[in-house]
Amino acid sequence: MTITLDLEASTSDSSSRRTLSSLSSAVAHCKKIVVLTGAGISCSCGIPDFRSSDGLYALVKEQYPDVVLRGRDLFDASLFRDSTSTAVFYTFISQLKVSIDSASPSPTHRFLKTLDSKRKLLRSYTQNIDGLEERAGLVGSSSQEARTNGKGKAKLKAKDVRNVQLHGDIHRVRCTFCSAQFPCTQDHIDHFNRGTPPDCPECAARSAARIARSARALKVGTLRPAIVLYDEPHPLGDDIGSIQSVDIKRKPDMLIIMGTSLKVHGFKKLVKDFAKAVHDSVPSPPTTAKKFAGKVIYVNKTAPGSEWDEIIDYHVEGDSDRWVEKVLKDWKSMKPADWEVQTTLKAKDGDAPGTFRVVKEITNTIGNKGKSGRRKPDSRRENMLPVAVVEPLPSIPQPPSSPGKRRKVNDEDDDDVERSPRKKSREKGRENFHFEERGMLFGNSTNNKATGICSI
Ligand SMILES: [Zn+2]
Repeated sequence: MTITLDLEASTSDSSSRRTLSSLSSAVAHCKKIVVLTGAGISCSCGIPDFRSSDGLYALVKEQYPDVVLRGRDLFDASLFRDSTSTAVFYTFISQLKVSIDSASPSPTHRFLKTLDSKRKLLRSYTQNIDGLEERAGLVGSSSQEARTNGKGKAKLKAKDVRNVQLHGDIHRVRCTFCSAQFPCTQDHIDHFNRGTPPDCPECAARSAARIARSARALKVGTLRPAIVLYDEPHPLGDDIGSIQSVDIKRKPDMLIIMGTSLKVHGFKKLVKDFAKAVHDSVPSPPTTAKKFAGKVIYVNKTAPGSEWDEIIDYHVEGDSDRWVEKVLKDWKSMKPADWEVQTTLKAKDGDAPGTFRVVKEITNTIGNKGKSGRRKPDSRRENMLPVAVVEPLPSIPQPPSSPGKRRKVNDEDDDDVERSPRKKSREKGRENFHFEERGMLFGNSTNNKATGICSI
């Protein structure tokens, strides 16, 4: 049975207050948290609700007064069958991208980054195409950084993908013919705004090379926004399915769902699969060490339907920004050690043996208990950077190996399934999760109203 907790009323209701504190404590103690998000987490970022009459949709209608299109039609793959609806789609996306570009990540996006920095985030999965998670510091699945560059089809590097973009990314474009991907530039936006797609530079280069040697010209594809429409498969669907199955096998100990109405079939399945894995992660009977594990928390302004009774443990009724702020405040008072800045001794490359420097480093103990330094230092991780170097200390005989080196020896990164033969063999027997993408775009595909980034 889902327990509902009213975030606003919690100051006056002591029972809600206690339960909310225990949820904060659970976040502070869990180590493998999966977060699933929808449009609601971007509403506070200034991204307009384009369903409303003064929203972007109205602007597009101004540009195309004779075109009658339902909002949903603007995001259905069938729009490409008609040149006018294709033009409307491009114009609409260009205007949406401009307003997304002027938005900033919300406290909820930054909370995701904090969970990652504190080694608590197993993975974030989002329905949003705005890329605000990446701007908050999480590498997204559409990012170049997350892909291996080799021959043939690029593959996602699971360990680098911190945020899986279930519906693609408005900040990238993809060739309709050869599938080459590029960051979306101002030039692309200008083309889209006029309703005409730019040509693909890779196709154009291949064709030009043939013409140069007097061969026949090749077809040149056009670039389109790299977002996933209704009734079209996700180009990275197989890779995303593999990442999901890896995450489920890792036994996540908490599931947080924020800012989504839970109406879309594919997303509902994702929630149910992860909720089951989270509930199964609780040992029976629960041990003291695991007493915080196994909770499924849903943070949204509206309640989940009754079909979620056995799946969602807690519904936090309210705004996700306010809830994450409360969690962080509670976490800081419950486990201040997680937030301390401390000084450590570290030998610097190039120093004579025995020379130590004092470097300042934010503590990074979460998730590393008993396995100190499991991960390699990573420049992207905000709390790993030494920030100050002061006077060398007097020499001390033979320093131990540096923390960096120890990390390398012990490094056994969770989700890099390609590297370890042991893990490879485990992978072989892996259940092949079929990642269902159809009809997943944007939130509410079950009605025919205009789809909305802010549909919650
Ligand atoms: Zn191309």
